[in-house]
Amino acid sequence: MGHTYAYRCEHCGYEEHFNQGHGYLVHSQPVKTYLSQQTELFHYKTHGLLKELAKQAENLQMKAGFQVYICPKCKVLRDKIEVTVLNEKKVVHKSEFRCRDCRTRLKLTNIHRLKNATCPKCHKHSFHLDHLKHSLWD
Ligand SMILES: [Zn+2]
Ligand SMILES: [Zn+2]
Repeated sequence: MGHTYAYRCEHCGYEEHFNQGHGYLVHSQPVKTYLSQQTELFHYKTHGLLKELAKQAENLQMKAGFQVYICPKCKVLRDKIEVTVLNEKKVVHKSEFRCRDCRTRLKLTNIHRLKNATCPKCHKHSFHLDHLKHSLWD
C-alpha cells in the first residue's frame, strides 16, 4: 500500500509524481525468499550486497519500499527504493543515495511537511505538492 504524490511547478508547469510506501513486489520478506525468486527488483549493486549478506548470516529480513528523498543542497526531490536489511532487529544495511547533480547524500523527507522544493526543469524554488492529485495504490 502506498501513495503517489503529484508535484507541480508554479513557474513552468512541470509535473512529476513521487511514490511512497510498500507495493506489490516491494515488501518485507526474508532475504532468502527474495534471493530464491528469479526477479531482481533492485539495483544490481544492492542485489549483490544482499547475496553477500545472506552468506554471512541466517534469517535476515529485509524491508523495502518507496521513499521520497531530497537533496539538502539543490532541494530536488527523488523517489527511491529504500532497502533495509535486519538481523534480529538490528539494522545491518540501509540504502544510501546521492544526488546525481552535486553528489550530496540525499535525506529522507516528510513530503507532508515540505513546503517547497526546487523544480528539476526550471530550477526555481516553486515546486509544490498538488493536493488534488494525491492517489493510492496497492
Ligand atoms: Zn519549473
Ligand atoms: Zn544536489
